[in-house]
Amino acid sequence: MSKYIPDILKNQISASDKGRCCYCLTTEANSGIPMTHDHIQPRSKGGETTFENLCLACRSCNEFKADSTEAIDPLTGETTLLFNPRTQRWSDHFNWSSDATRVEDLTGSILFWRIALRLEVWGYTNKTRLRGFQRVRAGGLRLCSRDFQSPGVSSKSGCSHLTTIGRATIVCLRMNNQVIVVARRRWTISGWHPPIN
Ligand SMILES: [Zn+2]
Repeated sequence: MSKYIPDILKNQISASDKGRCCYCLTTEANSGIPMTHDHIQPRSKGGETTFENLCLACRSCNEFKADSTEAIDPLTGETTLLFNPRTQRWSDHFNWSSDATRVEDLTGSILFWRIALRLEVWGYTNKTRLRGFQRVRAGGLRLCSRDFQSPGVSSKSGCSHLTTIGRATIVCLRMNNQVIVVARRRWTISGWHPPIN
């Protein structure tokens, strides 16, 4: 499988993705670091070098994604596919927190995200941590019931919710790591973030 990406294809991808990471929406202009090209279906798993299988990704998202195509939803403990920028809409799975520093759902659950952040810090791939998280959840730290709803289903309060794909992708790609959260705070103050569309 060829690793070479023709310039004409790079230009097509760059124009389509507006110079920003298709996962965390970090822009090249803000980070000052050229975007990489992510094979959504990794080459190691037969992914082709085509527009449909390539997208711009920041180095952080690309490196944490590596050759993953699925990850564990930290809420349910079930394995789910990662977000596919070419076949799915970002806004169907993610949203910005009110201060635009974190990727989350429309309403957010402070408790859940605090735990998720801890998982990121610890290194969520450690399944012991995941089991610990599930024990904590089972032990009575009741998360808002809206977090357990199916994709696209709204609660009585009319909330929209992260899908399982969104949750798994956020944690797998460390989309709210401490470094990027600090950077987003600065970009927001400067009016450079979040992206308008
Ligand atoms: Zn990214």
